[in-house]
Amino acid sequence: ALKASGTVVKRFEQSQIESVEQEMNVLAHITKGLKNNEFLPMLQPKVNIATGEIESFEALARWVSSEIGFVSPAVFIPVAENTGNIYKIDRAILRKVLQWLEERVALGLKLYQVSVNISPSHFYNAGFVENSIALIESYNIDPKYIKFEITESIELDNVMRAKKIINELKANGIDTAIDDFGVGYSSLSYLQKLPFEEIKIDKSFVDNLADPRMNAVVKTIIQLSKNLNMISVAEGIETKEQHEELKRLGCQTGQGYYYFKPLPLEEINKLLEESVPV
Ligand code: C2E
Ligand code: CA
Ligand code: CA
Ligand code: CA
Repeated sequence: ALKASGTVVKRFEQSQIESVEQEMNVLAHITKGLKNNEFLPMLQPKVNIATGEIESFEALARWVSSEIGFVSPAVFIPVAENTGNIYKIDRAILRKVLQWLEERVALGLKLYQVSVNISPSHFYNAGFVENSIALIESYNIDPKYIKFEITESIELDNVMRAKKIINELKANGIDTAIDDFGVGYSSLSYLQKLPFEEIKIDKSFVDNLADPRMNAVVKTIIQLSKNLNMISVAEGIETKEQHEELKRLGCQTGQGYYYFKPLPLEEINKLLEESVPV
């Protein structure tokens, strides 16, 4: 059985799901995994680029299945999305984040805002705003400590709907970020139409800052976000050069292996113990 499951994991990690049968197989495991509480967040610190201070975190889903071992998000996120189950994972992660915040409240520790990824299909679900608020309230956590990251995949027809949802969240104290900005359906006009609090500049731009044309685009995005009163966040920062360049361009927040990798909650707790002076 071990050998067989090892093969399955390897295949799932290395390639995309190739058949409906494979997808249904992964889905069956996801369903069990959700029942068994196997989806856990790792937190990746978001750092103030000017000062180096940890400001907030992003929660990234991790899954170690009791049956098939570690499964990459690159595999289970698309399967959950395609089969209409992603909202269950998003909520499981939100719940764990709220539990973490609740523990910190009980211990009298400083709270940090945590960004939780929300798939577009979940974001547009009827009841998304209400259900999220109900969950946050059930943990007695101030909604200002939760931010939702939504990948930019909003087609033009949906701009008004997206705006309504973002404003409902805002009215309830929940911030939103537009994720992976610059790829996919990217359009600068979204920034002006949609009242996001934060814009996350995709790693593909950070990787190409040495290219003068890309550099000019990033500079423009950062400037525009300032003018629109949005926080600019660069993701996937891996080198000192990228950090220095983004600092020069006036980007406010950075995230990436150069600062911290995503870490399990216990390690985040240790990190915060060390960095917060008593
Ligand atoms: P994302 O939201 O764009 O998250 C950033 C990804 O880049 C994460 O991959 C993170 O681990 C990785 N990363 C961070 N810093 C660096 C760096 O310096 N270099 C490199 N090479 N990578 C870096 P991860 O954790 O594998 O997640 C992949 C994607 O899966 C996420 O991309 C997000 O779209 C999705 N995802 C993860 N958790 C959730 C979730 O709870 N719900 C939903 N709907 N999607 C999720
Ligand atoms: Ca994200
Ligand atoms: Ca992102
Ligand atoms: Ca990305």
